[in-house]
Amino acid sequence: MRKPYIAGNWKMNMAPSEGRAFASALLDAVKESGADVKMMVAPPFVTIPAVLEVLKDSPIIVAAQNMADHDKGAYTGEVSPLFLLDLGVNTVILGHSERRQYYGETNESINRKILLALSHSMDVVYCIGETLEERESGKLEEVLSAQLEVGLKDVKSEDMKHITIAYEPVWAIGTGKTATPEDAESAHEFIRKTVQSLFSKDIAENLIIQYGGSVKANNVKALMAKENIDGALVGGASLSVADFLPILTFDK
Ligand code: PEP
Repeated sequence: MRKPYIAGNWKMNMAPSEGRAFASALLDAVKESGADVKMMVAPPFVTIPAVLEVLKDSPIIVAAQNMADHDKGAYTGEVSPLFLLDLGVNTVILGHSERRQYYGETNESINRKILLALSHSMDVVYCIGETLEERESGKLEEVLSAQLEVGLKDVKSEDMKHITIAYEPVWAIGTGKTATPEDAESAHEFIRKTVQSLFSKDIAENLIIQYGGSVKANNVKALMAKENIDGALVGGASLSVADFLPILTFDK
């Protein structure tokens, strides 16, 4: 039985003071709503400590949006996984398409980060997904296969319990365009089959696969009704309690 996992990626929004106030309002709303999905928010690095003040010991996990591919050293501007762990952050989003698109991250560099995070027993939300051009030229499966094979290279079977996959078609992120539940389901089914061939049936069946790309209150139910869609990674709609709460309580 896969427990639904709904996550909010704040991207480069919410300064520390805003993040603290927002987390407090979100926590109050969540407590009243009786939401019982697995919940996570990923604030910008500098906002994490303020948000942790509010959400530590709450049911809402606080994650990072990225991390360095080294533990320490001369890597100006980077944030070590050890610093996140020191704060009490044990979950990290890796491979987001904006990191790939704007900051040159590749399946290989993301793989290094995934292996490093796993070496510290951190939980990883690994984002994969195709561009519109790749989809339209019939390369969807080729792209997803490479992202899974290279991104998860050398990951040990016993560490797969720390991995969540977020399928995020790049053309659906922040555009208001959502994949139809059927298109999303067929990509999720392909991802699960690929993970089965790379690891095992058991690992594939237990793998949480989130969908991301303009998830809103009005489309979350139809997406979550699909057999292979186990959660959502939400950008824009995670920045307001009024928009995010109905997604967290989609099953109520
Ligand atoms: C995201 O940031 O991962 C995302 C899916 O954004 P949005 O929901 O705004 O499309």
